[in-house]
Amino acid sequence: MIKLDGLAASSLVKLQLKQHTDTLVAEGKRTPHLAAILIGNDGASETYVGSKVKTCADIGYNSSLIRFDGAISEALLLETIAELNNNSEIDGILVQLPLPKHISEAKVINAINPDKDVDGFHPVSVGKLVQGLETFIPATPYGIMLLLQHYNITTKGKHAVVIGRSNIVGRPMSILLSSNSAYGNCTVTICHSHTINLKEICLQGDIVVAALGRTEFVKADMVKPGAVIIDVGITRVPDTTSKKGYRLKGDVAYEEVAAIAAAISPVPGGVGPMTIAGLMKNTMKAYLRSF
Ligand code: NAP
Repeated sequence: MIKLDGLAASSLVKLQLKQHTDTLVAEGKRTPHLAAILIGNDGASETYVGSKVKTCADIGYNSSLIRFDGAISEALLLETIAELNNNSEIDGILVQLPLPKHISEAKVINAINPDKDVDGFHPVSVGKLVQGLETFIPATPYGIMLLLQHYNITTKGKHAVVIGRSNIVGRPMSILLSSNSAYGNCTVTICHSHTINLKEICLQGDIVVAALGRTEFVKADMVKPGAVIIDVGITRVPDTTSKKGYRLKGDVAYEEVAAIAAAISPVPGGVGPMTIAGLMKNTMKAYLRSF
């Protein structure tokens, strides 16, 4: 059984990006710059944005963290995005989701200049992804593709089962795995909360991507022996023995599934670090396009 180590794979991606950045800066070019907007004080969002900002520093990118309290008006947020769109020093813009209820996620995503849409959520980016055109791929599915590439997992002709159809994970994942490209060419089944016979479908999967946000949902009796399992789920569960008061759990019952799988990504240390690697690659892409 191969443990799909996202920490190791992401370290390599970050090292390559750092070397590239160092070379560009040594040539006298400006430094890549990511702007992140964080609204409110949700603990998980704070952690995710904190890791993104720290990784920028590790690679040698500039970053700006723009914080607003949860009561910010939609108009002010849109104004801030417009300013970042017009700032030629900023290459990538991300707005950490979820947003407070009074702010339209669609309006905010639409307001980002598609050339700076490093999260890949803008309809222009999504449309290009569907058509197989060069674009920003949403960071989590992009990170998973990089993980498959790192371990040279054969995908061509395989049956991939994706559980979850969100715009940020499941849907783009299904498009990438079914695309006519390296680490694509799968036959894909996408499952959601209305899927009947999910267990039977899951058992047919040579590759299973679990992205539903239900802890330990995928059990050993749902998995074909020898399958490749990608666990996207991240749920904080209370744990009094941990300093933080919680620990992270995935959507797959790791121990029992690892016993029959060919390869499996752990939580934490699997898809999470690869997501950040995907975002950092998108930021470099946006930067290189700006010249
Ligand atoms: P989401 O927007 O809540 O979507 C969940 C999807 O799962 C929906 O399509 C939903 O179906 C489906 N679903 C829920 N319960 C189900 C069930 N019992 N059977 C079958 N399908 C079910 O979640 P998300 O944003 O995609 O995130 C999914 C998980 O990945 C979460 O744990 C999240 O924290 C994690 N995540 C991790 C990373 C990372 O970097 N590792 C990044 C993003 C998200 P319907 O559409 O029918 O409601």
